Amino acid sequence: MKIQIDQKEFKLMIDHAQIRKQLHLIGIQLNMTYANHVPVFVGVLNGSFMFMADLMKEIDIAAEVTFVKVASYQGEESKAIKEVIGLNIDLKGREVIVVEDIVDTGKTMDYLLREIKKQEPASLAVCTLLKKPGKILYNFLETVYIGFEISDEFVVGYGLDYNGLGRNLKDIYKAC
Ligand code: 5GP
Repeated sequence: MKIQIDQKEFKLMIDHAQIRKQLHLIGIQLNMTYANHVPVFVGVLNGSFMFMADLMKEIDIAAEVTFVKVASYQGEESKAIKEVIGLNIDLKGREVIVVEDIVDTGKTMDYLLREIKKQEPASLAVCTLLKKPGKILYNFLETVYIGFEISDEFVVGYGLDYNGLGRNLKDIYKAC
């Protein structure tokens, strides 16, 4: 099935039923790993909002949910500066799971993990819906729960946008 977003064509890559099946499996792992703990799920906006909402429906242990934004802007000597906005839960001694829509080069995640580690959480893990293994430049050692490994293609839907559009699609599409 093909769709058009802002005059660009996309075709169906992963349908909603596949996504929910995968989230169910990740949920089983998380419920087991964090039984007897109260983890904090830290979603990275905007892309993770739909993933987080469906993932949380699979979590049946006590858990907290919060969201942050990673802002980028040009600093001195045109160096890109990143900043985490909205991290207002104390994460010291907590079990933290960062929830991201997609890990591409890993730069955003690398930065966010380093910022969170400054707060000395008891443990830190990453849960990403999508990962492009071919593109990774920043490797991290944290446990990673991955929904789907995909090839190096631009994807949209289920929280991911193209020019601000398409986040509301319940399936994931790739550029064609
Ligand atoms: P990284 O820092 O890992 O290179 O990039 C992560 C961010 O780039 C993601 O959070 C997402 O916003 C954006 N991104 C990377 N690949 C894609 C893609 O295929 N589609 C969309 N919509 N965004 C992407």
